[in-house]
Amino acid sequence: MKRRRLFLAAVVLAALAAPSAEASWVPLPPPDSYVVHPVSCPYFDEPGVACAVDRRVTYWQEGQSARTVTGQFELWVPRYGSRVFEREVLLHELGHVFDVLSLDDAERQTFAAIHSYEVGWRERVGRSGGGAYPGTVEELFAEAYALCGLHGFERRRLGYRVRRGRWTPGVYGYSPTRAEFRATCKLIRGAA
Ligand SMILES: [Zn+2]
Repeated sequence: MKRRRLFLAAVVLAALAAPSAEASWVPLPPPDSYVVHPVSCPYFDEPGVACAVDRRVTYWQEGQSARTVTGQFELWVPRYGSRVFEREVLLHELGHVFDVLSLDDAERQTFAAIHSYEVGWRERVGRSGGGAYPGTVEELFAEAYALCGLHGFERRRLGYRVRRGRWTPGVYGYSPTRAEFRATCKLIRGAA
């Protein structure tokens, strides 16, 4: 009886566990830099929305020459009933963390130049099409990070394919050519 109860507890814990970004093809932010809640983002009225919030606090301490940074990013990735979709969404949110922690301005400019985006990092890209929302460069980077991080079989299961030279657009309309996609994954792997 006792063993059975333990077994049940293990099953429940596994079902409640947040999705994992392990074994992805992108460098991940340090594990202690973020925490993941397996529920909808509390800052949107509609359920099923994921988000990432920077909770770090930076301050100068008296007598110290360097700034002190404490706190983590907080990520909300609800259960969608599909591990592979949850992994994609988690990787997208981790893309935002990676952007802040690991990219410098030169690397952000390189990402924009690869795709010929001519707007600021937080501005919408006019020509992105096919997605539910026209994405800002920042969101398109998070999409790129997720797409680079997924395994080939995961991309196929999510419906991503190259057609007429471009990747199937995701929710923000990110639809790179093969060459843009290759250059972007290389940039991300080199930026860690
Ligand atoms: Zn995002």
